[in-house]
Amino acid sequence: MAITDPKIAQDDRSLDQTLRPKGWAEYIGQEMVKKNLKILIQAAQERNEPVEHLLFYGPAGLGKTTLAHLISKELRSQVKVTSGPAIEKVGDLASILTNLSPGDILFIDEVHRLNKLIEEILYPALESRSLDIIIGKGPSARTIQLELPPFTLIAATTRIALLSAPLRSRFSGGTFRLDFYSENEIEKIIERSAKILGINIEKGAVKEVAKRSRFTPRVANRLLKRCRDFAQVEKSQSLTQDLAVRALDLLEIDPLGLEGTDRMILNVIISKFGGGPVGLQTLAAATSEEKETIEEVYEPYLMQLGFLERTPRGRVATGRAYQHLGHSFSGQSAFLS
Ligand code: ADP
Repeated sequence: MAITDPKIAQDDRSLDQTLRPKGWAEYIGQEMVKKNLKILIQAAQERNEPVEHLLFYGPAGLGKTTLAHLISKELRSQVKVTSGPAIEKVGDLASILTNLSPGDILFIDEVHRLNKLIEEILYPALESRSLDIIIGKGPSARTIQLELPPFTLIAATTRIALLSAPLRSRFSGGTFRLDFYSENEIEKIIERSAKILGINIEKGAVKEVAKRSRFTPRVANRLLKRCRDFAQVEKSQSLTQDLAVRALDLLEIDPLGLEGTDRMILNVIISKFGGGPVGLQTLAAATSEEKETIEEVYEPYLMQLGFLERTPRGRVATGRAYQHLGHSFSGQSAFLS
């Protein structure tokens, strides 16, 4: 039942847990989502009913799992955590569902990777709290129906477009999009994390780390930790802006937070494909990256920066990307306009 996202290192996972906000006040930003959730929770509590099923979507590291934990805390309920790829067989889901206690929250991360057969078992469980299990094979097969306790499913995905319409329609409590954070919000997150980790950090260093954090809390926390290591090895009592710049430069994270692979993707589009458009499949082959990794990990931030556009004919590098990487731009991506 472990979360099995290969893109999140074990080290990041334990850091996630240490720094996870323990209450709403510590959860910075995403104000509209928080407001809506608080109303849903209060209304359900007043009616003495479980909160309806919820879906969170948005790029990795923006706080979807954290929200599920905050909701469970507010409801004083248990949260059982699993993920789409971890539920391989119908029996896996049946065992998870039949082990729920009344009021529990079931959190399914990467729900877009749930297989179709399992999705279909989930529908009646979500709608009428019943689990239909087929026993036996052939003519002697029969269906038994188990009643499940009241529970709330909270699902998270980075790829909402891959969710089937029937599954999406089952999230009766609502579907909430998490957005990238502002630089100011990321600064607050860094200051809070520095306090928890006992790092004496200068304001200039907070700003420097924030600028390079891809507007993403998980990245901010990871970079802060790397800067702390650097300051410690340099025998400095505090993390100064100069130390942060040196640490981040050494990690080859540029002033806008681009890492080696981001730059490589853009450089390939510019140098090999004349700026694009280039199809995702071709781009994946040319960069030796997985298609899914390009789409889920790199593209959201490159698009947020306005460096990359997805067009019906493929990916295109924008004038801004040319400028940032020091290429001269002749405006050949004209069909973007
Ligand atoms: P996701 O599930 O979207 O991948 P997580 O909920 O695991 O993201 O968040 C990653 C880390 O970022 C968490 O450990 C938490 O410390 C931090 N984080 C996320 N959102 C916030 C927030 N709004 N305020 C403070 N820290 C946050």
